[in-house]
Amino acid sequence: MIKHISAIAIAVCAVLLSASAQVTAIRAGKLVDPDMGTVLTSQTILVRNNKIEAVGSNITIPSNAKIIDLSKQTVLPGLIDCHTHLADGQHGSEPMGIFRKTAAELALESVPNARVTLESGFTTVRDVGTYRALGDIALRDAINRGDIPGPRMFVAGAYVTITGGAGSDSGLAPDITLPWDMHYGEANSPWEVRQVIRKLASNGVDHIKILSSGAVLTHGSNPKSQEFTLEELQAAVDEASHFGLRVESHAHSPDGIKNAIRAGVASVEHATMIDDEGIALAKQHGTYLDMDIYDEECIQEEGRAGTMPKDFLEHDAQLGQIQRDNFRKAVGAGVKMSFGTDAGVCPYGTSGKQFAFMVKYGMTPMQAIQAATSNAADLLGHSNEFGSLKPGKYADIIAVGGDPLADIRVLENVQFVMKDGKIYKQ
Ligand SMILES: [Zn+2]
Repeated sequence: MIKHISAIAIAVCAVLLSASAQVTAIRAGKLVDPDMGTVLTSQTILVRNNKIEAVGSNITIPSNAKIIDLSKQTVLPGLIDCHTHLADGQHGSEPMGIFRKTAAELALESVPNARVTLESGFTTVRDVGTYRALGDIALRDAINRGDIPGPRMFVAGAYVTITGGAGSDSGLAPDITLPWDMHYGEANSPWEVRQVIRKLASNGVDHIKILSSGAVLTHGSNPKSQEFTLEELQAAVDEASHFGLRVESHAHSPDGIKNAIRAGVASVEHATMIDDEGIALAKQHGTYLDMDIYDEECIQEEGRAGTMPKDFLEHDAQLGQIQRDNFRKAVGAGVKMSFGTDAGVCPYGTSGKQFAFMVKYGMTPMQAIQAATSNAADLLGHSNEFGSLKPGKYADIIAVGGDPLADIRVLENVQFVMKDGKIYKQ
């Protein structure tokens, strides 16, 4: 018996020792460096535990290192989607659907959303709101504990929205009282905005999502309208800053966009009807535009299939093309651009399809890759941790067959995924 225990103890020690010094050498045929906008050849990436230790063409590989041969592939930093809704349960276009589900059902339905997102090459997401507050925090924490596979999540906790606004659960009779978690972020004055942000900060969110115009995919909403006043938006940015949190604002209308930029948000989401003044302001303030120019494809497809609510299609009429034209304008003007898809509008795991549209509407393939790597990490305030493959950063590494700079669509089919030093797809 004692003999058995000691044998087990030795085995456990051996496992712990090898785990504590786990070294992996990845041979990369091509390696994309978004920081420099260049592609290097014949590189080796040395990964120790969860971090990148060294990158170069002349790396001495330790004898105990595990070798991963990606010499026929192109290696890139893990992709980052700055606009997802992973915690909203199964993909579907009708927000009223959540009234037929418990919070537990939504949470469990969201588990595969996280997995397919990671497996499609997105190792980090900025998740920008959920209809049942704080479900995203639970999802983030389950991933961080290693209970379920998923991307590194940065979450908003809830939508900060006016009563009946773009982030509210609208469409119900006025005498129906919503549970607390379906109107947690409702606020109607600068001080109410501050109160909501204080609650979210104490709940452990990573950033604040506010909505400064109406929405396409919300009943009773008008995307051309303005929501919140400049004063309320300024209160949001100021209060969030007290907790070290950045603010992103959903905005379709020109005034909703410009108020958000003037208030000092880090990014404007959608930015659909941005005008010339808005583009100039974004440049002047260094505001990122996070424009989801692919999901029009899914909205129209669901419209043809009859599964998209009619009022949403009316909101959407013409806006898709306007947004794409304005994306081209903003890129041409040199505004800072990040990669955000509104994942959940299109099926989870298909975010890579947006790259081809970003190239079609004015970006070089390198600019599109930078939007989803170095720019996205900068927007999140974590450039020192991810966004490129440099010593000291997390080993968030993906690989594709072929050359994404020659054919950006290879990013729709990611073949290798490592997050935090652990392989999830090979
Ligand atoms: Zn969204």
